[in-house]
Amino acid sequence: MERLDAFMARANAAYYAERDPFADFTTAPEISQVFGELLGLWAGAVWVMMGKPAQVILAEAGPGRGTLMRDALRCIERMMPDFRAALRLHLVETSPRLRAAQSDLPATWHDAVTDIPGGPMVLLANEFLDALPIRQFVRRADGWQERYVAEGAFVEQASLLDLGNHPEGSVVERCDVALELVRHLAARLMRQGGAALLIDYGPAESAPGDSLQALLEGRPADPLREAGRADLTAHVDFAALVRASAPLRPLGPVPQGRFLADLGLFRRIDRLAAGQPPEQAMALLAAARRLAEPDGMGRLFKALALCHPALPLLPGFAV
Ligand code: SAH
Repeated sequence: MERLDAFMARANAAYYAERDPFADFTTAPEISQVFGELLGLWAGAVWVMMGKPAQVILAEAGPGRGTLMRDALRCIERMMPDFRAALRLHLVETSPRLRAAQSDLPATWHDAVTDIPGGPMVLLANEFLDALPIRQFVRRADGWQERYVAEGAFVEQASLLDLGNHPEGSVVERCDVALELVRHLAARLMRQGGAALLIDYGPAESAPGDSLQALLEGRPADPLREAGRADLTAHVDFAALVRASAPLRPLGPVPQGRFLADLGLFRRIDRLAAGQPPEQAMALLAAARRLAEPDGMGRLFKALALCHPALPLLPGFAV
């Protein structure tokens, strides 16, 4: 018997080490190069607002194939050469297979965000938090029970945690690893300056519900029966992350569509499309729409920035 978070950590470590995740799902940077470009320039804007420190860490957690960072760096090189000269790239990746896919990037690799060396930092993470292991609790008549996994099924054990007032049968999730990560960022960014941009899917307000899901070859699968073969994810509880991030200043979460449009997604697409044959221009626009429209990834996905309080309002979070 294994607690759900231990099960999920083990299953995902095996999954990311042995399988090609991008056969099972498509992420924003794989849909349009503009996603990485805009995030790269966002990082540059933070650097400018920090007062252009001579050295700054540009970090990414869970870079996957490295696509976001490749697009970001290309754009930074062209548009903000002074930022390019100041930045040192640090990537947090546990999968040897994905590290190999990122190996052309001029970076230093780490197993955990806590291993990144000190100094002012801008951290980017897209679809990283949803892969982190969660715990689940179920409200029963006589109190809270925690979910464990044994032989492909849930087993419940009484829990002493007080998880609030919810009707019988409610499932409440908690991602301890994500909360610890945000507490670490709070301490670090308060001391050394910078900001973190977290983009993922989940509701803006905490709500009970079982959001654990498995994708196997692009199709939903039983999360408990395909350990290591399927990608396991859960909704990110942005409100809980915001509470854990004090005393940083949270910006958002705002819907991804609004965030990207604010950063100039469609202006950039128009530039790229100009002079292209109509089919290519249409494909560029379709990709942008998929990222930004409410029935694509525009509403379910959210952007949350956690900033040193001395930073002014950052791009993409206009009220
Ligand atoms: N950001 C990429 C990839 C998302 S998939 C994109 O948008 O395409 C999740 C990424 O996080 C993968 O690179 C995976 O190997 C990495 N990852 C998952 N759990 C991790 C952990 N606990 N520590 C470090 N990296 C992890």
